Amino acid sequence: MKADPANDSVDGDLTMRELDKIFTQHDRYNMFYLPYPHPLMNDLYLSHSGDNERGYTKTKQLLRRRSGTQGWNQVLWSVGLSWENTQDEDYDFVSMEVPDTSTAYKRGRRFPAKEIRFKLVGSWASDGQEPERAAGELAVLRALYRVLDESSASLESWSSSPYDMLVHCFRCRHENVIERSMLRRFMQQGLLLDAVMNRLTCQKCGQRKTRSIPVPTRA
Ligand SMILES: [Zn+2]
Repeated sequence: MKADPANDSVDGDLTMRELDKIFTQHDRYNMFYLPYPHPLMNDLYLSHSGDNERGYTKTKQLLRRRSGTQGWNQVLWSVGLSWENTQDEDYDFVSMEVPDTSTAYKRGRRFPAKEIRFKLVGSWASDGQEPERAAGELAVLRALYRVLDESSASLESWSSSPYDMLVHCFRCRHENVIERSMLRRFMQQGLLLDAVMNRLTCQKCGQRKTRSIPVPTRA
């Protein structure tokens, strides 16, 4: 049977499409697995994998480990989604992929990257030591990420939210916090959020490539 991402549920009443959105938000708000913006994100990991040898497939798995542990035997719960290569007009995303050349007969040959279309085709419900915890935690994460999305949508929403702006440098990993009061001042100068983000540079190394996320005000 063909998967229906808009209606098929994964855990609780979460659909595949909704879980995919949580995965995307998780990547956005959990840079380098730093423990913010919320303690619920501690010990929560999103793993990406792909196979370019027999067709093209991708899987993502969100998993919660027992606090402070590593390894696969300490997974409390995990849920996953999988994508397959499609020729259809109905696809979820396009990615540049290089064929896997590890099989003997292909070895030594070089293949150029090509555009591959991927479609969400499968999911697996929670397994692990305490799979029943997944549905409730995913519901809380979903609500939390919605608040973070809304808070960081504009200078106006951000400066009236409980979050400051953490600016993380991609080159040297220096972090700088811009307080809400400053965001409000930018807003009063008539600036838009995009314009502020485009002007940000790392205070340590001057790099322009930074990423900003909402973080709770630190004491
Ligand atoms: Zn830097």
